[in-house]
Amino acid sequence: MKVFYSPDYAASPHAFDITLKSQWVAESLLRDPIDGVELVRPHSLDVGELAAVHDLQYVEAVHYGTPRGLAGSPGLTWDEDLWTATTAAAGGMVDAALVGLRTGGVAGSLSSGLHHACRASGRGFCTFNGLVLAARAALDDGAESVLIVDFDAHCGGGTASLMQSDPRIWQADVSVDWFDFYDPTDRCQPTLVSEGEQYLAACTQALSRIEHIGPNFDLVLYNAGMDPYEGCDTGGLDGITKEVLEARENLLFRWCQERKMPVAFALAGGYVSAHLDEKELVDLHRLTIAEASLLD
Ligand SMILES: [Zn+2]
Repeated sequence: MKVFYSPDYAASPHAFDITLKSQWVAESLLRDPIDGVELVRPHSLDVGELAAVHDLQYVEAVHYGTPRGLAGSPGLTWDEDLWTATTAAAGGMVDAALVGLRTGGVAGSLSSGLHHACRASGRGFCTFNGLVLAARAALDDGAESVLIVDFDAHCGGGTASLMQSDPRIWQADVSVDWFDFYDPTDRCQPTLVSEGEQYLAACTQALSRIEHIGPNFDLVLYNAGMDPYEGCDTGGLDGITKEVLEARENLLFRWCQERKMPVAFALAGGYVSAHLDEKELVDLHRLTIAEASLLD
């Protein structure tokens, strides 16, 4: 299974866990490999590729740092390495999607900070929406429909806003926090869970609903946030344990496998906090990679 990663993902010195953890996970995979997982260097997106989804003025703001307010709209302090980090992380998601689509199998990228980014600005530590960029790349490569599954703790409102104009993109979104909530549409409906014991059932239900009303998807893009974990200060919900998240990953990847849908995953949320140290966070993200590798 190809998992895209480059040290560029963690290039920005001002970016915290959202980008630095890609390096922690990559180092963990080198130290303690998961069978069949191969780390592969992605291509970085260029201005033209980004402008397929984002306003050119915003893309250039992130590139050159002016206007500074717009360049800093993701909530990350701007420096020239932010461009290096975010174009590599979005590029990795695009590359993983294309590998998944072309092989009919599974791939991933150690990317985070994608789903809140909108057309003309960033938001919530998300700079470029690698999920929609990857969906568009897959559609350009022959896919007829793409499903984005977003199980990050926070809602995927940036993705929802960007996919409205393209009826070939759908989203199943289960969150435990109101941040970036949006009005539901037929193709894109957020579910907010407030009780940990209802979480897995809500994930199952969201997948069933989209299967019922949607087409046969040619590709699934999975935003595998670990911030619903009960020990995560940014999003965590009591009752969502490591075992629950392992069951969630098993559920999602089996669901794809049973329907013969290729899938590409990103790491997404999950932050070091008082009850979640760096090693525990890495171990949570390894659950996604381990479950995905079983499909390969
Ligand atoms: Zn999140």
